Amino acid sequence: MNAHPFISEERANSLAEKFGTPIYVYDEKTLRANAADCLSFPNAFGLTVRFAMKACPTAAVLKLFHSLGLHFDASSLYEVQRAMLAGVPAEKISLSTQELPADFADVLKLGVKFNACSLSQLERYGQSFPGTRVGVRFNPGTGSGGTGKTNVGGPDSSFGIWHEYADDVEAVLKKYDLTLERIHTHIGSGSDPAVWQKVALQSLSLVRRFESVETLDFGGGYKVARVEGEKTTDLQICGAPVRDAIAKLAGETRRKLHFEIEPGTYLVANAGAVLARVQDLADTGENGRKFIKLDMGMTDLLRPSLYGAQHPIFLAKKSGRSVSENTESYVVVGHCCESGDLVSCAPGEPETLAEKTFPQAEIGDFCIIGGAGAYCSAMATKNYNSFPESAEVMIEENGNARLIRRKQKLEQIIQNEIV
Ligand SMILES: *Cc1c(COP(=O)(O)O)cnc(C)c1O
Repeated sequence: MNAHPFISEERANSLAEKFGTPIYVYDEKTLRANAADCLSFPNAFGLTVRFAMKACPTAAVLKLFHSLGLHFDASSLYEVQRAMLAGVPAEKISLSTQELPADFADVLKLGVKFNACSLSQLERYGQSFPGTRVGVRFNPGTGSGGTGKTNVGGPDSSFGIWHEYADDVEAVLKKYDLTLERIHTHIGSGSDPAVWQKVALQSLSLVRRFESVETLDFGGGYKVARVEGEKTTDLQICGAPVRDAIAKLAGETRRKLHFEIEPGTYLVANAGAVLARVQDLADTGENGRKFIKLDMGMTDLLRPSLYGAQHPIFLAKKSGRSVSENTESYVVVGHCCESGDLVSCAPGEPETLAEKTFPQAEIGDFCIIGGAGAYCSAMATKNYNSFPESAEVMIEENGNARLIRRKQKLEQIIQNEIV
């Protein structure tokens, strides 16, 4: 049986002993390697890599990426503030948000960059900051995502300003004496590299139309393989034609466009895992199923229930127990009182049970859920069934495991209730 890349059976036992389960585990070495990969994205005249922090907003991860020279993409004003609390300077943060709250100007005036994602946002920005430089997120008319839920371009998507409304954008810019310095197009998470390329090249026509634009921000969406059969985007292959097109544009117009990319998934997905305990076993008779019940579930990892997302699952034996030669097929389920709390579901089918084959499991063994660095801790059904938020641990480069977020206490779950 193959093993998880950075949590061996021995490590699963030692981590559980030290920190308990369930825990999120991040691997600093992998985070660093992923950052280096993104920083070498093909570009003609300079590159800024922004970590889309919604994928994994824990301070220790933000601090590490900040120390490696990454900038940040925030998807809400709260994320901007969270990044600043983690020590990220305002000018390294860019806000692209679906909801611009009333007090946005107080935060933006600290030096945060802004992409207006609707005409009304651009208007409100102009009222607060006339005569300044601004970015605009366009919906380029095409989208692509790993699932319908993560496709954020095209006519069925509310993200960004529809590309045919460039005249309206122009009018608002004029009205408030704004300079459009940046065009942003993010079309989806897990997007098809061919569609991504097509959109990136299309966005050059918007750049031609707005002569003040100096930066083209392509967003994120670079696919990562979590399980066999999936394919990780090769950033070098993906970015090369876009780099060439921009070099060509420079030849024609002397405009040297700066590149920005905003990977979330690519930077963190395979750098994180959930270490969970097999807390019970069940079966439904001779012609039924065998189930592994974990001490985690949709409260820690929602992606299978939400998208039918596939995560690799590894079984690790508790230390000291005898080895059985037999294997079994199991459905792996979470601890919530919902049949939808499935960890092993069919691809793209959140409600269809899928079986995984492991060495015979015993209560007290571990399951390691891989590919859980992106949109797992960040996007869980927090406190459902009143389960607390799980702890997070970083395996440092030297192999030392360090607690980076404590497990939530019951008092913290109820602290804002008024009785
Ligand atoms: C979510 C998001 C990203 C990151 O998407 P990934 O698929 O995680 O790479 C980048 N930019 C914006 C604006 C986003 O909303």
